[in-house]
Amino acid sequence: MPKTLLQKIWQAHEVRKLPTGQSQLFIGLHLVHEVTSPQAFEALRERGWKVRYPSRTFATVDHIVPTDRQSRPFADPLAEQMMQAIESNAREFGVPLFDLADGRQGVVHVVGPELGLTQPGMTIACGDSHTSTHGAFGAIAFGIGTSQVRDVLATQCLAIDPLKVRRIEVRGRLRPGSFAKDVILAIIRRLGVKGGVGYAYEYGGDVISAMTMEERMTVCNMSIEGGARVGYVNPDETTFEYLRGRPYAPPAERWDRAVEWWRSMASDPGATYDDEVTLEGDEIKPVVTWGIHPGQSVAIDEELPRLSDCAAAERASVEEALRFMDLEAGSRIAGTRIDVAFIGSCTNGRLSDLREAARVLGGRRVASHVRALVVPGSQQVARAAEAEGLDEIFRAAGFEWRGAGCSMCLAMNPDKLRDREICASSSNRNFKGRQGHPTGRTLLMSPAMVAAAAIAGEVVDVREFYEEPVGV
Ligand code: SF4
Repeated sequence: MPKTLLQKIWQAHEVRKLPTGQSQLFIGLHLVHEVTSPQAFEALRERGWKVRYPSRTFATVDHIVPTDRQSRPFADPLAEQMMQAIESNAREFGVPLFDLADGRQGVVHVVGPELGLTQPGMTIACGDSHTSTHGAFGAIAFGIGTSQVRDVLATQCLAIDPLKVRRIEVRGRLRPGSFAKDVILAIIRRLGVKGGVGYAYEYGGDVISAMTMEERMTVCNMSIEGGARVGYVNPDETTFEYLRGRPYAPPAERWDRAVEWWRSMASDPGATYDDEVTLEGDEIKPVVTWGIHPGQSVAIDEELPRLSDCAAAERASVEEALRFMDLEAGSRIAGTRIDVAFIGSCTNGRLSDLREAARVLGGRRVASHVRALVVPGSQQVARAAEAEGLDEIFRAAGFEWRGAGCSMCLAMNPDKLRDREICASSSNRNFKGRQGHPTGRTLLMSPAMVAAAAIAGEVVDVREFYEEPVGV
C-alpha cells in the first residue's frame, strides 16, 4: 500500500497505541527555549528525574532576549530570571545551550535547521506553536505546551492524536513579487484558520518543489495559523543539498545511507490523502492581512470585504476586525499608513528574506515617520548578512540593525508597538496585542512588501519597486 510521509514517520516512531486512541510517539529531536521550559525542568527536579536523552535535546534563547542592548544582567528582571533559569537547567541536566555568547544563538526554528539538527524522517517537538517550520525538511514537527515539554524531557515521548493528511498542491510558478509568504497566506485565506484542525498539511506541486529550503520553512512555519498541527514538504535533492556539511548533519561516511533512508520516507506515488486542494501559483499576488487573524487577508490590489458580501457566520468577526484595525469595508489596503516596519521572526528572518528586502531598499530611504527594525533570525544569519554588506544597506536606508531574537514577533522583550501604531510585519500572527501593545495593529506581509511599505510610509505593491514591470 502506498503511504504518505506522515504515515511512514508515524509508524517508525510509534511506541504503542494508547487506550485514549492516541499514539505514544518517540521524539527524535527536542528543541527547548527559555519561556516554556523553566516549569518543565522544575517538575523533573521535584521528582528527581533526569532528561531521558540529553543528546537529543538542544536549547537556545530567543523570545525574551533584547535585540539591542544584550549585556547582562538584562534591564528586565523577569527576562534575566528566565536566562539564569535556562543556563542553570542546561548545566544541571546536561543539555547543550546555544546562548548569547555561543555564536549559534537565535530563534529556535532558525537555529535547528541551520545547524543540521532538523532532518528528514524525524519526529520533532518544541514548546512553541511554530515548530511546524521543521516540516520543511520532511519531518513531523509538533508545537507543544509546557506540560508536554516536561513529558518529552522525562520520557522522550509524546501522546498524540492521529492526524489526517491534506495534500496542498501549488501548481505552475510564482510571478515576480510573490513569495513563499504570499503562498501560505493565500492557502490560509482559502482554507481558513481552522481548516487544518485534525490535519497534517502536505505541501507539493511545482511551486513548492522549486522553492529553496528557506522558502519551504516559511510555508511550513505558518501551517499552524491554518489550524494544521503539522505541515511538511517531502524531502528531495534541495533538502539533501541544504543539509550537506552542516554541523549536526550526518558525516560523509554515513551520508549516502542517510540520504537513502530520507528519500524512502517521502510519500509514495499513489498514496491516498484524506483531502486534496490545488492552487495556481501564477494567481497568487502579494498578500496583506487586514484583520486580526492570518486568514483575514487580501491581495494588494483587492478591496477589503463588505459586510453584505460575507457569510452570516463571518459577519461579526469581520466587523470586529475592521473596527479594531480602523479600516473601512470595501476600501483598499494599499495606502494604509504605517508607523513601524518589522523584518524578522522564524517565518521570515533568514538570509534570503533579508536579501530580498535589501534588494527592494537598494539606495532608497525609509519614510521619516516610520520606525524600521530588521532582526536576523540567528547570530549565523546576522554574520552571513553582514559578510554580504546587507547590514549596511539596511542602515543606510534608515533601518535599525539588531541582534538575533524573536523581537517584535511576540514582543516578550523591549521591542514593542506603542498605542495604536500600525506595523507592517514579516512575522506570523496579527492577533490583537501580539506585538506588545493591546491596541497595536499588525499587517502581515512578505519581507519585500515590508521593505516597500517602510520606504513609502504606507502599504504599497512591491511590484512597483522592481525595475521591470512585473506581475500584471
Ligand atoms: S519568532 Fe515569533 S513565532 Fe517564532 S519562535 Fe519567536 S515568538 Fe514564536
